[in-house]
Amino acid sequence: MQSWCRLSSQAARVLRVSGVSQRGPSITVAGCRHYSDAAEADLVVIGSGPGGYVAAIKAAQLGMKTVCVEKNPTLGGTCLNVGCIPSKALLNNSHLYHMAHGKDFANRGIEFDGIRLNLEQMMSQKSTAVKALTGGIAHLFKQNKVTHLAGHGKITGQNEVTVLKDDGGQDVVKTKNIMIATGSEVTPFPGIEIDEESIVSSTGALSLKSVPERMIQIGAGVIGVELGSVWGRLGSKVTAVEFLGHVGGMGIDMEISKGFQRILKKQGMDFKLNTKVTSASKRDDGVVEVKVQSVKGDKEETLECDVLLVCIGRRPYTNNLGLEDLGIQLDERGRVPVNSRFQTSVPSVFAIGDCIAGPMLAHKAEDEGIICVEGIAGGAVHIDYNCVPSVIYTHPEVAWVGKSEEMLKEEGVPYKVGKFPFAANSRAKCNADTDGLVKILSHQETDRMLGAHIMGPGAGEMINEAALAMEYGASCEDVARVCHAHPTCSEAFREANMAAYAGKPINF
Ligand SMILES: Cc1cc2nc3c(=O)[nH]c(=O)nc-3n(C[C@H](O)[C@H](O)[C@H](O)COP(=O)(O)OP(=O)(O)OC[C@H]3O[C@@H](n4cnc5c(N)ncnc54)[C@H](O)[C@@H]3O)c2cc1C
Repeated sequence: MQSWCRLSSQAARVLRVSGVSQRGPSITVAGCRHYSDAAEADLVVIGSGPGGYVAAIKAAQLGMKTVCVEKNPTLGGTCLNVGCIPSKALLNNSHLYHMAHGKDFANRGIEFDGIRLNLEQMMSQKSTAVKALTGGIAHLFKQNKVTHLAGHGKITGQNEVTVLKDDGGQDVVKTKNIMIATGSEVTPFPGIEIDEESIVSSTGALSLKSVPERMIQIGAGVIGVELGSVWGRLGSKVTAVEFLGHVGGMGIDMEISKGFQRILKKQGMDFKLNTKVTSASKRDDGVVEVKVQSVKGDKEETLECDVLLVCIGRRPYTNNLGLEDLGIQLDERGRVPVNSRFQTSVPSVFAIGDCIAGPMLAHKAEDEGIICVEGIAGGAVHIDYNCVPSVIYTHPEVAWVGKSEEMLKEEGVPYKVGKFPFAANSRAKCNADTDGLVKILSHQETDRMLGAHIMGPGAGEMINEAALAMEYGASCEDVARVCHAHPTCSEAFREANMAAYAGKPINF
């Protein structure tokens, strides 16, 4: 039966699915209002993060009657509300402040007096960007005829989603397919209570009301070094405590990681690597005491700070989704298991993004969302996770795609290395922004590009050229023979490819 069912006592309203209006009620069954002329949805997407909202738009563009259910007051998920977008706004503006406040601008012949930080205004600029982008999704939904239902989506049958609304009411949507795009949440640290004021998660660290004198962060992965950089530039003394022996998280090439750590240290960030936090508590005077121990267990220390940032990663979010009743079992890390078409053990239920395996990245979620709906529409489903780039938006930026040197060694793949430093790149020199290098890894026999690792100006943009080359199976010679505009930082990418295939670059 094609129906929408409402348990709310509110007056019947007009619901639209892909422009088809449903007016009711006509039949009442067990307290539900059924809308006899209601259209059935082709796809209900639960979650409007970059995975869910992009999938919903693509599905509508492919002609599916699409509904997107979101429990938060704003659309856009983690990425737009408390992730990629607000963090990048703060990274950009704190970098400008740091350049102006330190000697950088003066060295460029730009002098002025009385520079000071207006944190409230900086936060307000961040909020403006977030508001514009989350509001933009609502507009795109309208334009593409995606129906947005506000509330918590629960799967109540293989072809049914119940939307639990804040006012206690419910909408029941019958649908051919369901996509779980419920994302992730901050991983809590056992025994440390987050108050989002002096003991904060990444969410609280995006909205501090003042610059803490001393900040300790647990974790020196991607999100940690980004947020640590923001507050370090604004004046905090930042110390990162990291269990691993390196910074930058998983997948980073160790040569790049070491150079990156040196640069961050020069910028004022301190590191305690191979060290674990054992407990943390807030004293009456507001100071947070953090007990740390070397991973080997031979050294212990108590550190003090004004703000503790708990930044040890994220975990899939599938609360009250109805998966148990449906017979969908999560894996050992709480992720929704899917096959190569993103299909769960229930054929009409799909899952994408942070709540399934793979890197927790917005663009990975987007790509999965698009190809999953293309698959539902009968198309081919293919994604090469080796070509999904990673970016750390510090200064300099760090970006990589494909294999690191360590991975190639472990896999026993014969490889060549081509490097080019930004110190020898004309544009980087003009801009007085020469920290870092491009490092290319290619197959020893075929010259095929296997990995690209960039630390330097615009690395986050440049890595897309590497991803494109790798998607097309390009050799380093292919890239080195492509004419690159001069003077640009991308010429360093070309030169590193030249170094990999010909043994030598031109300008170094
Ligand atoms: C500080 C920070 C910075 C980051 N920076 C970057 C970056 O620069 N680049 C990058 O690629 N990634 C970054 N990320 C990671 C990125 O935000 C995530 O990988 C991405 O948001 C995942 O998208 P998603 O659609 O899978 O899930 P999410 O964005 O988490 O969205 C899931 C949505 O589903 C909703 N939802 C959950 N359950 C239900 C339910 N039952 N009913 C209705 N709605 C529900 C949630 O409210 C949420 O809106 C960052 C993350 C953080 C925390």
